[in-house]
Amino acid sequence: MSDCLFCAIAAGEIPADVVAATDRVVAFRDIQPQAPVHVLLIPRAHFDDLPSVADADPALAAEIVALAAEVARSEGVAATGHRLVANTGVDGGQSVPHAHVHLLGGRSLAWPPG
Ligand code: AMP
Repeated sequence: MSDCLFCAIAAGEIPADVVAATDRVVAFRDIQPQAPVHVLLIPRAHFDDLPSVADADPALAAEIVALAAEVARSEGVAATGHRLVANTGVDGGQSVPHAHVHLLGGRSLAWPPG
């Protein structure tokens, strides 16, 4: 989709600190990390949010979670614990309208979130 920040990152048109990638999913560090480990996982194809991915292509949603598990291991937060978050829509606090999952870890994370 034109004018989509994460489409541009997925295409390599805007630089990002990529930590892992597959044919269909890219993982890169969040530019404003909220934890020692803060990685975003996105589908290369444009979807507005994660539920839209799950509706259209459940296998792709599973690939995003599988790559998150791989990154959690490579970042050293698989055993210590971590959190996957998919902010969705206005009330969910989604600021970038391209599906993404946050992987957060490396510190104790409070619950409930704000
Ligand atoms: P959300 O608020 O759930 O939509 O998350 C969007 C995330 O994208 C935020 O945590 C931002 O810090 C992050 N972000 C925005 N622009 C960039 C960028 N160019 N590179 C990496 N992360 C970004």
